[in-house]
Amino acid sequence: MTLPVSKIDFRKNSRNASPAVVKATQNSTRTALKKRAEVVEEFGEEHWQQLRRAGHEVRLHALTHLNRYLAKLEQNVVAAGGKVHWARDAEEAKGIVLGLASRHGVKSIVKAKSMVSEEIGLNEALEAKGIRVFETDLGEFIVQLAGQHPSHITAPALHMTKEEIAELFREKLKIDARPVPEELTEHARLALRKEFLNAGMGISGGNFLIAETGTLVIVTNEGNGRMSTTLPPVHVAVVGIEKVIPDWESAAVLLKLLARSVSGSKITAYNTFITGIREGGPKEFHLVLLDNGRSRILADEVAREALMCIRCGACMNTCPVYNQVGGYAYGAVYQGPIGSMLTPLMMGTAIAGGLPFASTLCGACAELCPVMIPIPEILLHLRKRFVEGDAFEGPSVPGGLKGMAAIGRWILGSPALYRLGARLARIFQAPLRRGDWLPALPPPLNRWTLARPFPAFKGDFRRWWKGHTAAAGSKEGKTHE
Ligand code: SF4
Repeated sequence: MTLPVSKIDFRKNSRNASPAVVKATQNSTRTALKKRAEVVEEFGEEHWQQLRRAGHEVRLHALTHLNRYLAKLEQNVVAAGGKVHWARDAEEAKGIVLGLASRHGVKSIVKAKSMVSEEIGLNEALEAKGIRVFETDLGEFIVQLAGQHPSHITAPALHMTKEEIAELFREKLKIDARPVPEELTEHARLALRKEFLNAGMGISGGNFLIAETGTLVIVTNEGNGRMSTTLPPVHVAVVGIEKVIPDWESAAVLLKLLARSVSGSKITAYNTFITGIREGGPKEFHLVLLDNGRSRILADEVAREALMCIRCGACMNTCPVYNQVGGYAYGAVYQGPIGSMLTPLMMGTAIAGGLPFASTLCGACAELCPVMIPIPEILLHLRKRFVEGDAFEGPSVPGGLKGMAAIGRWILGSPALYRLGARLARIFQAPLRRGDWLPALPPPLNRWTLARPFPAFKGDFRRWWKGHTAAAGSKEGKTHE
């Protein structure tokens, strides 16, 4: 699933969400959150908050000085024998990879998990040229076999049960698979082994890029990242420009945050550090640095912090909306709160303007985010951008909604009108009132009352506040006497 080019209808997608997908999603996210909470508790809340603050500072500093660190990174990758390619957008990035594949006569590719390659639709472009692509991350392998796309950024197949996966393996791999996780993993391992050995190219993403030494950092729990980037004669890493960090100290902070937030473990099983060409490894190392809208996001002073994301998926696990609709409702490669920020930022609100509204703004995501991204604030900012129309996409809000927002702004901006409105609301609802509640509203005004009762307008906040402060004042006076 690439970034979308036509409007995403989140509401329709949510209505069509499969109950089985939602149930499997909820089971998986519950387990992930529990494991994360245990490992954070063991670490100690105070230390954890210190680490989060350090992570926030590292990422913010890197973004603020992105030009400087990217230049340093390029210099050090080249010095270590690698080659750096700059890609403005998805087309350029795909062109670079296709050019390299054609130059080396590549017929098959093994891929480590890479959300950026999903973002640019790399598999589809390679397959269209007759090159076979094998996903080697277990979750990615499963969704590729099923002809699907990831529904979660760190757990691509989290929407599938082990029974469904066993059925899939029986059908596609023609083996007698049982719904036992260890056995299913072994089947996948055996199926992929020969592909690792035959592949002419290995493609990976990258979790971080360390500028001071030109090092690509890849973390996986299965070791497939190491195999994909070691066995084939050519390694191509496609990485977003925002992944650069200054030094190894920064990496140490972020790796601690990432492992705990992704999988509830103290450290990820395989941490791979690749610095250019090394003995016994691929003969060529190419780093494709992808912009694809990231520079434009950087120019937005509020939204730029979304680029600090280290793709841990914790915000998705805790999001009540994501847990009710599953990943596919977001209609794009990034889902949940991070997707609700990144997709409209990359594609414009004309295409993904509904996604920032796919949030209750409860703030659970920001509480868990290991690098303290102010997610609700960015979502609110994007809602405003949607209403006003993106500078680069043009206005996209229906006229009626804009009119209602303008009337609301006019009334709420004038104390006299607000008082009048509150008085009128009390008068008009009086005949409908049932005690403290209003009855369900008729369509099309019933979207609120379908899910929850609508409280009656009672009293006047200003009068209540005056009485409340007067009462508090007299109580205080009595205490001091
Ligand atoms: S926004 Fe924060 S919590 Fe969500 S994936 Fe990114 S780093 Fe993780």
